[in-house]
Amino acid sequence: MKKYRVIINRDRCIDCGISTGQCPTHAKTLSQLLSQNREGESLGVFSADIYDRVKQLAEACPVKAIIIEKIE
Ligand code: SF4
Repeated sequence: MKKYRVIINRDRCIDCGISTGQCPTHAKTLSQLLSQNREGESLGVFSADIYDRVKQLAEACPVKAIIIEKIE
């Protein structure tokens, strides 16, 4: 199954709440995925079965702080 990486740019994030609390579905998805940190970014790996949910979240972010990369 294909794997993807989600990257949250914490410097760009304006804490609008869409992905961190106001939407339970999105918050649950992100909290389960984000397992790594590097300077200014939080990262997580996920598989194709939840791609649509994560993509929906990335598209909902008003400042485009959520990036998805294909890794396999
Ligand atoms: S949707 Fe974007 S700006 Fe809003 S909390 Fe999530 S990452 Fe931050």
